[in-house]
Amino acid sequence: MKKIKEKTGFEISGVAASPGIAIGSAYVVRKNEIISSGTKLKNESEVLNEIEKFKKAVQASVDDVEAVKNNEALKLNDDEVNVLEAHIELLTDPQLHEDVLQKINADKKNAVDAVIEVVDKFVEVFKSMSDEYMSASAADVKDIGNRILGSLNHSIDNGWQNFQSNTIIIAEDISPSEAITIDMTLVIAFATSVGGKTSHTAILAKSKNLPAVLGCGNTVDKIENGDVIIVDGTKGVVIVNPGEKCLEEYSAKMREYQQGNEFLRSLKSVSCQTSDGVKITLRANISSAEDMLESLKHGAEGAGLFRTELLFMNRNSFPSEEEQFQFYSKVALKSKGKPVIVRTIDIGGDKPLGYFNLPKEENPFLGYRAIRISLDRKDLFVTQLKAILRASAMRNFRIMFPMISSLQELRLARKILEEAKQELRKANLDFDENIPVGMMIEVPSAALMADIFAKEVDFFSIGTNDLCQYTLAVDRGNEKIKDLYDPYNPAVLRLISYTIEQANKYNISVGMCGELASDPMATRLLLGMGLTEFSMSATSIPSIKNLIVNNSYEEAREVCGKVMAMDNSKSIIDYLKRNA
Ligand code: PEP
Ligand code: MG
Repeated sequence: MKKIKEKTGFEISGVAASPGIAIGSAYVVRKNEIISSGTKLKNESEVLNEIEKFKKAVQASVDDVEAVKNNEALKLNDDEVNVLEAHIELLTDPQLHEDVLQKINADKKNAVDAVIEVVDKFVEVFKSMSDEYMSASAADVKDIGNRILGSLNHSIDNGWQNFQSNTIIIAEDISPSEAITIDMTLVIAFATSVGGKTSHTAILAKSKNLPAVLGCGNTVDKIENGDVIIVDGTKGVVIVNPGEKCLEEYSAKMREYQQGNEFLRSLKSVSCQTSDGVKITLRANISSAEDMLESLKHGAEGAGLFRTELLFMNRNSFPSEEEQFQFYSKVALKSKGKPVIVRTIDIGGDKPLGYFNLPKEENPFLGYRAIRISLDRKDLFVTQLKAILRASAMRNFRIMFPMISSLQELRLARKILEEAKQELRKANLDFDENIPVGMMIEVPSAALMADIFAKEVDFFSIGTNDLCQYTLAVDRGNEKIKDLYDPYNPAVLRLISYTIEQANKYNISVGMCGELASDPMATRLLLGMGLTEFSMSATSIPSIKNLIVNNSYEEAREVCGKVMAMDNSKSIIDYLKRNA
């Protein structure tokens, strides 16, 4: 890369958000940002005027989104319609309205300033959450905020138009509604100044299979329309106006990457087993029926984690049993009979629900969340369990409880599950009587008691995202201490290894659905520990499958033996990198 830097142009580093290489021409989107004026309202008639303007702007925004949603020419898929519906809900969110009106009425702010302040506050709250789809919601809130501001200023020109072929979009960010409404057929990559690996833009890029480098900072401002751009989404590098040699190198790399991709796609029908014949199951982490469908296209053998929280968000009250039943049934329908592990709600902590009025806590990750809420609010829990059970009629569902930290909790959850079954029996409703019941291993106390838990459940699923944060006492969403968040710390690895060992000893199945399952550096280590079920985002499945079919279990055992004898993560990571 040093050689490349010496050539013409310049290089920008960012977050490798969506893999692949693209070479094309820059289309720079610079939005006219609307900024606060600070002007205060002088009298009641100005207040009333601003309130009226705000209400009209919201209505105009809702009408715009409705128009996009109903535009048949755009051929929107279910995911896209869902985003637009979520935007309509956000636009009409009572809390948002109350806060804006409060700022106009009580603080005498003009409508633009009030909207900017309230939306910024909402965005900050969402951004501070570590969860992928909650962080993605920050982009949604910002998006609807910009819409309202655009309507208030009578300008909703978003600056996206007339792409040429091989366009690489350079922008501060790409909001969800822009992503849906702009015609992406001629776009081959993006580079943005903000955004991280789990941002909405990253998810969009991955789902469209477009290379993307995000979080490049202000240096992208130096890029001009028509500049020749190379986006290396695998490394997280953007090269602007490269020299001839660099272009040649990257053209070769791009061809190689495309051939590699074709090869990976061809693995879809290959059975997933190590070179010495150990069968491994690869499943997907999903949040909706659309995800389920998409994951099968990548060769997933079902869903190893169906996060049910999505249905509970972006709305004003809890979904009814019937609504939940419809939502889960849709997933069952799209699963083509492959196993689906449905996790009961994992709300609270960093995933609040506006309408649930969860108490503000000093330590939300250690507080009222997940199974703790379900056990405390039996009414909600029974409703969800009945809906899941009713959708289990196809006999491919499994139920999983999140964040179990003691045996009493597990036993109580199972008891309530029995009660839910009993209610369905009484009502003569069909469900899977033998539905397997499992638990997440994501709290150290559960991992340490894996031998005990293994006698009481049908399966474990290791949630390394939380297991790592609780074992190392490192908030998984805190930027300041992100280097301490280290799943290769031997303490975390010992807990994972012990959990797998106990599951195998007691003959129950064990999978992993945390992010470590999709980290290629960990694949041989996990195989060597005896893990046979991996669950991850659908797009990671082909490359992990490629690693599995090209490695033997015997070698993996050796790797695991060496790693588990090491006493620090630096040695472990160095060793795994050297032996990749
Ligand atoms: C985990 O903790 O690893 C996990 C998969 O659950 P979530 O990321 O939803 O907390
Ligand atoms: Mg978790």
